[in-house]
Amino acid sequence: MARTDAIVLGAGIVGVSVALHLAKRGMSVALVDRAGIGEQTSYGNAGIIEGNTVFPPAFPSDLGALLRVAFKRAGEANYHLSFLPRVMPWLLAFRAASQPQRLAETARLIRPLFSRAVAEHEALMTEAGATHFLRKTGWLKVYRGEKSFASLTAEFDVAAKFNLPLQTLDTTRALALEPSLRPVFAHAVFWPQAASVSNPLGVTQAYAKRFTALGGITLVGDARSLHRTGNRWRVETDEGALDGAECVIALGPWAPDLLRPLGIVLPLAIKRGYHRHFRAQGNAGLSRPVLDAEVGYLITPMEQGIRMTTGAEFAARDAAPTPVQFDRVLPAARQLFPLGEFADANIWLGSRPCFPDSRPVIGRAPGQANLWLAIGHAHWGLTLGPATGRMIAEMMAGETPFCDPAPYRAERFG
Ligand SMILES: Cc1cc2nc3c(=O)[nH]c(=O)nc-3n(C[C@H](O)[C@H](O)[C@H](O)COP(=O)(O)OP(=O)(O)OC[C@H]3O[C@@H](n4cnc5c(N)ncnc54)[C@H](O)[C@@H]3O)c2cc1C
Repeated sequence: MARTDAIVLGAGIVGVSVALHLAKRGMSVALVDRAGIGEQTSYGNAGIIEGNTVFPPAFPSDLGALLRVAFKRAGEANYHLSFLPRVMPWLLAFRAASQPQRLAETARLIRPLFSRAVAEHEALMTEAGATHFLRKTGWLKVYRGEKSFASLTAEFDVAAKFNLPLQTLDTTRALALEPSLRPVFAHAVFWPQAASVSNPLGVTQAYAKRFTALGGITLVGDARSLHRTGNRWRVETDEGALDGAECVIALGPWAPDLLRPLGIVLPLAIKRGYHRHFRAQGNAGLSRPVLDAEVGYLITPMEQGIRMTTGAEFAARDAAPTPVQFDRVLPAARQLFPLGEFADANIWLGSRPCFPDSRPVIGRAPGQANLWLAIGHAHWGLTLGPATGRMIAEMMAGETPFCDPAPYRAERFG
């Protein structure tokens, strides 16, 4: 039976970053996953490191948008009718957290963590030999109508308060940035401090390789076997029982499978999302992620081709895929960018693990000694993985965390 200082359960970008930061502090660490490293949610995302995020995605505030979702015409959201009663309490809490004052409060609370997002990735990429994945080319959001662009005033005000640079562009100036786009939009906003990666899986695997180079071990095992033995935590792995003085749960959308049996009930829901890869026609290309804001999809250049990701789908985590949002957005997407054939046949489905206030839980698990949580990173798990890893490792090592961990405590849910 092996013994370690810490067991990290879940080898997505969050768990791998936690494990690496613990190993950097000289702890003996085992990273346990039942699947391959970084192959779940952390594989298929849009690759954006959203260092300049101001507001989280919000519940629709105008009736028109809500009706489009209700009548299943919206690109940005879909739902399974049979799932709505189960997710309704969460949706109501999400709607309450989407009031303008609450959004402004969230923006203030999350800023210290987000402001470190790009720098923390860059530091890990440098030591992991992974900087070739990084593009510091910003993020472009395009707006087809006046109304949606006009609704950004509050976001611009908050961005100014935080000294976040942004450029509002007319069509011509936006096309100068991305010449393959077509002028089907009236306005664009360029966020220069956002970064992106060309292969999120490659990034997570590079961090895992660095972790093992520092002496960390990776094991295959089922996190649901976690139990206490004396004052230690034990998990069963393919190589036998593994004991750890401390344990970190970083299971992304699967966290409730383990938390519920431990008596920890948190309002974690999921927003499912899909991706497909396209070839570009002719010499067309993109230099950065582009969000078609009203239509509700994103296109981003990846090693595999142009990756199109969809917005949120409210459905049971394990329900069969229903990628209907592609049909809703594809005609408009083809107007904006010359998408060619599919680069592969796969339609990928992932689940964003989300708390209703759009903040992750990072810190001690309530009521369980030596158990830590790094879960609920929603639309921003890639962005916040390394910053989360640093923060939780600093707390576990008894150091002063680089930013105030209070907004991320699980106890905020009462
Ligand atoms: C369509 C889409 C686009 C996105 N775009 C972005 C983006 O551009 N930028 C951004 O920052 N974020 C984005 N996200 C969000 C981001 O991908 C997630 O927040 C992030 O990947 C979550 O990472 P994680 O490590 O918490 O979870 P995961 O990557 O899911 O890792 C959890 C791990 O736990 C393991 N596991 C589960 N159950 C068990 C068990 N019983 N035993 C052992 N192991 C287990 C899994 O195998 C998995 O490896 C996007 C998400 C989606 C769906």
